[in-house]
Amino acid sequence: AVAAPALSVSGLCKTYDSGHIALKDINLEISKGEIFALLGPNGAGKTTLISVICGIVNASSGTVTAAGFDVVKDYRSARSIIGLVPQEITRDAFETVWGTISFSRGLFGKPPNDVYLEQVLRDLSLWEKRNSQMITLSGGMKRRVLIAKALSHEPDILFLDEPTAGVDVELRRDMWNLVRSLRDRGVTIILTTHYIEEAEEMADRIGVIHRGELVLVEEKQELMRKLGSKQLTLQLA
Ligand code: ATP
Repeated sequence: AVAAPALSVSGLCKTYDSGHIALKDINLEISKGEIFALLGPNGAGKTTLISVICGIVNASSGTVTAAGFDVVKDYRSARSIIGLVPQEITRDAFETVWGTISFSRGLFGKPPNDVYLEQVLRDLSLWEKRNSQMITLSGGMKRRVLIAKALSHEPDILFLDEPTAGVDVELRRDMWNLVRSLRDRGVTIILTTHYIEEAEEMADRIGVIHRGELVLVEEKQELMRKLGSKQLTLQLA
């Protein structure tokens, strides 16, 4: 038997109130434990797509099912198995790192699990900073906290919106290692990126989004082969 997909997106459309059509008929299935990269230039609709999938932005039409839960009709259940690492830096200025992530876990109604949270902080090289206030951390460290926060409630599916935009080489490498180790633990990962090298480095499959349309979904090797043999060109600028 074929396992149910971790994520199923069908006929998804989004038109903003401004009239801007940000997503056009997106259809996509992602398997449990897969790393899927959404690749596209600025303004292509990557953030909109993951925001709609996570249920924080309403779709105009279409459906999203995450681990069997309808994201619109059963938002609470769906949200509890989803972790989202947003692009922007957190605003919890005066909270400590530990306070931030334990509070976040509580928001999802999960009982405390200090052993788990300690492991998350150690994996992200944040353990030494656990008692630091957020405001005192560097941009890179704040990014790490965003990831820790998204993992605080032990999600099955993790969305990372441009996780390595503007981060240094060390953090980028840590991020890649973290994503792989999460996948090895069965977490499904969807990330957005502008960089083909990053998609190539990390993903099992790559989806290319252009002006709100998912123009291509391929196994990584197949996409790289087509690009290499010039059967395909991508405009990502
Ligand atoms: P980037 O790589 O720059 O983050 P993106 O691929 O994530 O881009 P989106 O942020 O999803 O793209 O934006 C897609 C389009 O929708 C853009 O043209 C953007 O201006 C528009 N858009 C995004 N949010 C809104 C909004 N709240 N109201 C109106 N238009 C919006």
